[in-house]
Amino acid sequence: MTEYGSRAFILGLDGADWKILDHMIERGVMPNLKRLKEKSSWGYLNSTIPPITCPAWLVFGTGMNPGKLGVYYFLVREGHGYHTVPFYFRRDVAGNNFWDQLSEKGFNIGIVNIPTVHQPYKINGFMISGFMSRSRRRWVGTREGEPLTFPEGLESEIIEKVGEYNIDFPKTTSKNYQLLSFEEEIEEYEQVALQRTRTIEYLMRSKKWDIFLVDIMATDRISHSVYQLICPDGEKYTTSRARELRRMIEGFYHSMDDIVGRIRKAAGEDCHFFVMSDHGFGNMTGRFAINDWLMEKGYMRLKDQKRTTSPSPKRKNLFKKIYNAISRFNHRHNISPIIESVVKSLPGRMQRSIPDPLKLLTEDDVDWGNTKVFYREFGHLFINLKGREPEGIVDPDGASKLMKELVRDLDRDVAKHFNGPGRFRYFFGKDIYSGKYKEFAPDIYFDFDGILYNIDTRVGHEENFEPMPDWMKGNHRQDGIFIFDHPDAKAGKVEGLNLIDLAPTILHIFDQEIPENIDGRCLKSIFRDDSPTGSRKIRIGKPTEKLLISIAISKLKI
Ligand SMILES: [Zn+2]
Repeated sequence: MTEYGSRAFILGLDGADWKILDHMIERGVMPNLKRLKEKSSWGYLNSTIPPITCPAWLVFGTGMNPGKLGVYYFLVREGHGYHTVPFYFRRDVAGNNFWDQLSEKGFNIGIVNIPTVHQPYKINGFMISGFMSRSRRRWVGTREGEPLTFPEGLESEIIEKVGEYNIDFPKTTSKNYQLLSFEEEIEEYEQVALQRTRTIEYLMRSKKWDIFLVDIMATDRISHSVYQLICPDGEKYTTSRARELRRMIEGFYHSMDDIVGRIRKAAGEDCHFFVMSDHGFGNMTGRFAINDWLMEKGYMRLKDQKRTTSPSPKRKNLFKKIYNAISRFNHRHNISPIIESVVKSLPGRMQRSIPDPLKLLTEDDVDWGNTKVFYREFGHLFINLKGREPEGIVDPDGASKLMKELVRDLDRDVAKHFNGPGRFRYFFGKDIYSGKYKEFAPDIYFDFDGILYNIDTRVGHEENFEPMPDWMKGNHRQDGIFIFDHPDAKAGKVEGLNLIDLAPTILHIFDQEIPENIDGRCLKSIFRDDSPTGSRKIRIGKPTEKLLISIAISKLKI
């Protein structure tokens, strides 16, 4: 502990959702989490829109909405062009995260695997890169490429003192991941999390730290793979495959609980201890072919409309039969990557003779002169606006009418598919984002109750909406988890918690000024009113400019 007299530990259980954790608590699988929840301030943590890792972790770090960061997804548009690039081309990592401000004030910072920290940088403390590491190394002890830690020597120190460490999951992110069984996948998620915990414990013991941030990605990945087998609201929860895997899945959550218990103990009772997730989780039971839909409704046109022509009905049936057979046999993944990998393994001539009914579009395929609306990244629709997009055709005066028409059309079709309203949600970018980079925001964001359906960008689907009964998968939801444990914490459930509020709350814990230009607010309701932190005045300080400068610099790297 330092002269400042307090510490904070933020344990990210990526994508953790109370539906799953409460279920595991009920089954007696997570006793540490149960005890912790009972004595803590806890609640649902509202994520960003969209509820996706990036921008969520950037918003968490800065307390700023995506409109100030210029990042709305993993990929960002290059200016107003039709092309997208990884988010870190627009935004550098070292900037105005709350830990940067605390580092400047002399606090010791420890950062382990925070997803959007893709490149370690100089800080008063230490840092291990997140899974989007620019070096693309998974770190198994090689010394090539860009460094994965700050200071650079930390990498070899961990290998020597602790052993193997992985930034990401080597097997489940490999090219042949489809060939893994669920058992192999779950085993890897658990082992990498436990391995990371050994490093965290080593760093907690051997380094100076005031603020320690960690993300355990395993809780996100297991839900992506088998949510429907984990959670009672999954259609597959009562199947024999779910029963077969139950012991293993519960073993996984028991290990996560052990991690929570071990780290909570090592942090010490007087540490401000947070457990949080960047978003929640739920079923993913189907897919929606957005580009096929846009074309069908006349919003988009391709240069070569033949690309959308499906194979003859007879061939289509045959292919559907093959798809279904593979799907049943495989019983675990989206079938298209499997078919793609099978097709790719055939000699070129044979490959060409197989009609692939689904095509990925590139920007060159689109007839921009006849396209009013186009789709980019998850849930992002853009108006092809005259004077803004390179080949824009929609008059700015008519844009808002067009947007209203489009969401009305989409709403109607979604309600028809689900036999009733309530699944479709949409936002206009101009209404929910603010700041210097608002102009790059999607004109419309939409999803179905979070990511209940995958948005499939390929064209040539037989149906625009397609339920996928064989999927075991899950995907993100709006509400993550939140726990705050400390003698100052007000025990019980707290409403109105937002991911964007954590940065100012942590600055307040360390009695630092909260920059006036951030959007989050200090979560006063998690502290007892009569506690030192709860009764202390919230200090608002001068705005910060650093982040905006770093965006300008990083743009040059494109
Ligand atoms: Zn995820």
